Amino acid sequence: MNKSDSERVRTVVEAMGYEWTGDEQEANLLGILACSVRQKSIDKVFSRIHKWNSWKNHRNLITFLSGCILPADREKLLKQFDLVFEISELPQFSYMLSQYGIVTPVSYRSGLPATVETDRQQKEKTGLNTLAFPIEETANKGINKLITRPEEKIKDFWQIKPTCHSSFEAFIPIQNGCDKFCSFCAVPYTRGREISRPSGEIMDELKELVSHGYKSITLLGQNVNSYGLDKNGHEITFPVLLRKIGEYGKTSGKDFWIYFTSPHPRDMTRDVIEVISQYDCLAKQIHLPLQSGDDEVLKKMNRRYTTGDYRKIIHLIRKLLPEATIFTDIIVGFAGETDEQFENSRRAMEEFRFNMAYIARYSPRPGAASSRWADDVPGEIKTKRLHILTGELTRHTIGYNTGLTGKKLRVLVTGKDRKEGYLSALTEGKIVLRFRSDEESLTGRFVEVIVESAAEYALEAKFNKELITEET
Ligand code: SF4
Repeated sequence: MNKSDSERVRTVVEAMGYEWTGDEQEANLLGILACSVRQKSIDKVFSRIHKWNSWKNHRNLITFLSGCILPADREKLLKQFDLVFEISELPQFSYMLSQYGIVTPVSYRSGLPATVETDRQQKEKTGLNTLAFPIEETANKGINKLITRPEEKIKDFWQIKPTCHSSFEAFIPIQNGCDKFCSFCAVPYTRGREISRPSGEIMDELKELVSHGYKSITLLGQNVNSYGLDKNGHEITFPVLLRKIGEYGKTSGKDFWIYFTSPHPRDMTRDVIEVISQYDCLAKQIHLPLQSGDDEVLKKMNRRYTTGDYRKIIHLIRKLLPEATIFTDIIVGFAGETDEQFENSRRAMEEFRFNMAYIARYSPRPGAASSRWADDVPGEIKTKRLHILTGELTRHTIGYNTGLTGKKLRVLVTGKDRKEGYLSALTEGKIVLRFRSDEESLTGRFVEVIVESAAEYALEAKFNKELITEET
């Protein structure tokens, strides 16, 4: 989500006349999109801003902070950064800077009407790399009305066209916030309640990306499969949105894969899985966070499903999408997690045979309900549990990947591999793969490879042929 948000930040910052630099020592505007999911991420923000503030003795530097920030962290960080704002307030960024007394490059060149700058930028760039609205309008939005309603703020945020970091992989936010209130999670407090983006806008953004040759597009939200439910019948639901995308994929003749993250098991209905099975462009890869394999712990986490409910979804996925890979998230050492409860998580890992699991050691987040409970599982036990689950995961992935040996796979080339003379690629199920080739021009294209060998989390293959598509 932060990567996606940063693509919109870049559009706004560039429209103010700033140029991007890869070297923070050179920058005169520096910002962070924070993530409050773990304490470690917030600790990094403190150490970075400490360094930046020390530079202020020698040069002009403006710092800003946005992203997911808990109220308690926000209060402390307000004193450290020049500007702290919600990501949905991004359209008002230039106004905030002007109120702070900052002269942006565009306003410095005040002899030039801002529209000339925007036109020039638009000519230099193609398609997606343009603003959704002209620069003076961006500024006026802030000057004329300071928007306070979350729904209006996020709508304006979505209007900003992203400056994509890649020429073949993109994200489309379809929803912001979350209504689920899992006891360990701070998102409902940092991002607010669920707001679904209008489906017409999502489809327009998708078609534009596909027409520019994007091949891997991820629909983003904290709870994607409850998309539309906040609109009480005035918006389509998630499976209907997927069907619309599937139909577009079928009739457009374009070649692309659509992913989504993250869904919640509670909203993972049969319709969602069925529709994925019916369209080629809907990638056969599901990320379904389990969080714990113990019903008591799940209850305490306020996840509102049992391992039995989760099992039914997995069975349905295996039945309707037999080739799908399944990823998950699991927390170890949640408040009060006993050895027996952890053992249930291990058993679940063994049973569900995930292709990837993001396993996290529990850390309480201030403001989340669980922060009131004792974080009583010692650090070394959490680490031990993490290693046990990682071992369980590896046992399955090596078996699964070895089973792919000798198979022909369609993969998307993602760039040069770390190994000299090799290119990296991803299968439709998001398994990492590399094959010998120095044809970097294949990046962003679909090719066919034959798998030669397998490791725990990656495959090695032989290049077979490029799959010619309309765009290439
Ligand atoms: S579903 Fe739970 S874990 Fe996911 S964002 Fe919402 S509250 Fe957080």
